Amino acid sequence: MSDGIRRLPTFAALSGQAVLDGHRKGASIQLDETYFAGQSRALRTADEFSPSERRLAGLRDSKETYERIDVRVESLTEQHLWEASRRFRRQLRTVPEVDYLDRQFPGRCFVVPEWLRTDNRLHYGARVYLFREDDAPTPEAVMRENVEAVVADSFEAFERYQGRLHGYPDCCIDFYQNRSPDSPSPEWQSVAPFADRIHDAALEAGPPESIEDVVPEFLDAEAEYAFFAREFFPEPGCETARTKGRVIHDALAATIDEGLVEDYFKLTFGFNYLVAQAVHTGGDRRPAPGDLGREHLLFYAPLGELTTLPRYS
Ligand SMILES: [Zn+2]
Repeated sequence: MSDGIRRLPTFAALSGQAVLDGHRKGASIQLDETYFAGQSRALRTADEFSPSERRLAGLRDSKETYERIDVRVESLTEQHLWEASRRFRRQLRTVPEVDYLDRQFPGRCFVVPEWLRTDNRLHYGARVYLFREDDAPTPEAVMRENVEAVVADSFEAFERYQGRLHGYPDCCIDFYQNRSPDSPSPEWQSVAPFADRIHDAALEAGPPESIEDVVPEFLDAEAEYAFFAREFFPEPGCETARTKGRVIHDALAATIDEGLVEDYFKLTFGFNYLVAQAVHTGGDRRPAPGDLGREHLLFYAPLGELTTLPRYS
């Protein structure tokens, strides 16, 4: 595992390594307030960590630069949205963190704007993609797919494209897109068979001390390997997803502490469980760093820092 990978936030380092290993086409990081603040908090949370003043300043600067970006779309036509995308991307490229990630990741790394349309409102955000050098789309291709889908109001088409970019099996993408008012959401169907592994009581009493309190035993049943990426909701019983997750797990555990890799899978499952629960009950809140315990926050710190902790060395 390269020094560059070890300097990435742990959750991104592990998913990025699975990409470099050829077990997933791509992975991504949502660039937002949570991402910047999570890293700053994580770096200050353990005595063993030794973040440089420069890195902390870089994160502050990135957050401020990101917040200052002014996004305007004249009208919802393909031309105007495309022009806005190009302007937005130019500004995103001035965020120091984008350059930082690009310098650390030993593959192809780029940032793109991301548009989403709900009930005639246009939402936007930014995503950094990680691919292998020889198997990456261009940023323009990803932007084009997004713009076309948003203007045509066919977000499902982009969701499918994006799922493939992330290396999710087609069968699970089909399952995820099959929504009906007569059945529970795919998110909930995906986590429901394992819901009894979650200690709800540990979550209800406020942020738990550790992910161990929420998901005490996880990898004792093969099926759970299917949860190899945050916000990937495998179809229950999908053999393809399970096998893929198992391969990712084994490759990572051959290089770094197995307990750390198991926490990655537990945190991913716990994260998806909270997202599914929010969808199920009509909320839309994404879990904040630390909501699943201390490890959840720690995973925003660089992998190289985490492996200095007694828990993971
Ligand atoms: Zn599947």
